[in-house]
Amino acid sequence: MRGLVTKSTGSWYQVLGDDGVSYDCRIKGKFRTKGIKTTNPVAVGDWVGFDVESSGENGIITTLEPRKNYIIRRSVNLSKQTQILGANLDQAILVVTLASPPTSLGFIDRFLVTAEAYGIPAILVFNKLDLFSEEGKEILQQYKAIYENIGYPCYDVSALEGTHVDVLQDVLKDKITLVSGHSGVGKSTLINRLVPGLELRTGRISDWSDKGKHTTTFAEMIDLPFGGKLIDTPGIRELGIVDIEKTELSHFFPEMRYYLNKCRFNNCRHINEPGCVVLDAVEQGDIEESRYESYLSMYANEDNRS
Ligand code: GDP
Ligand code: ZN
Repeated sequence: MRGLVTKSTGSWYQVLGDDGVSYDCRIKGKFRTKGIKTTNPVAVGDWVGFDVESSGENGIITTLEPRKNYIIRRSVNLSKQTQILGANLDQAILVVTLASPPTSLGFIDRFLVTAEAYGIPAILVFNKLDLFSEEGKEILQQYKAIYENIGYPCYDVSALEGTHVDVLQDVLKDKITLVSGHSGVGKSTLINRLVPGLELRTGRISDWSDKGKHTTTFAEMIDLPFGGKLIDTPGIRELGIVDIEKTELSHFFPEMRYYLNKCRFNNCRHINEPGCVVLDAVEQGDIEESRYESYLSMYANEDNRS
């Protein structure tokens, strides 16, 4: 039978079969994503073929259909484990908070570069608007301007109070959207707002830990009542970047693309080379300092720790 993977725990997968029934499935055989071994070889959003076992409730996934796209992250600790966050996505939302907990610009940039590398449109949702002082609101406007100027849609909401949440309905309607963010940014609260009656548990620390079997966290697909689906992922603490060559990194910064191939040296790293037009643009303020710092940090750091 053919089915859509709607939930993943790493060893078990919930698959919605073409018959409209959900099956708990295990995997048989090896599935590799571009030769990378991932802790979840099959991801939420994947279309698979599976055999139903005689009990009628369980199944075994035997084939994986080619993916339109996917996002992979690598943990930056010693285990260096990789996980597929989701597959066959139309877009990805990063929920961020300026405080409680703070989301660094470096983390935001890593997420955006990852989305660019996989060709997935990314959106930033700044949550906990109700906590902002006047000064905080100014900083928020500055952050939004940085990202809106380079083409990323930004929204500010209060999931707790429901402020501006309805605006997101138009953004999400009829799309498959991955939702990600640090633990505690209010992702569950936001999803509960969007899907009345869902009641995801909130206020828990739910990092997608690398301890593997000791954790019960999972990614899950959620139907939106107004059309479309969300893929809710466990909070991510750090975001390691997979699959990106240093020489390609600048291609995943939209504001740098215009300048590429214009530097004096065609193998310019845009770090300290004479005649580098990217450095000039940073100097002129045409490329945001914080974005360029993220570029340098990602370029320098094998682990891409933020
Ligand atoms: P998750 O880990 O991203 O799923 O975060 P939760 O939805 O569990 O929320 C973490 C904490 O932040 C909870 O105590 C929520 O009540 C709180 N929270 C979520 N959204 C908001 C918001 O818009 N404003 C405020 N003040 N608190 C929020
Ligand atoms: Zn250069």
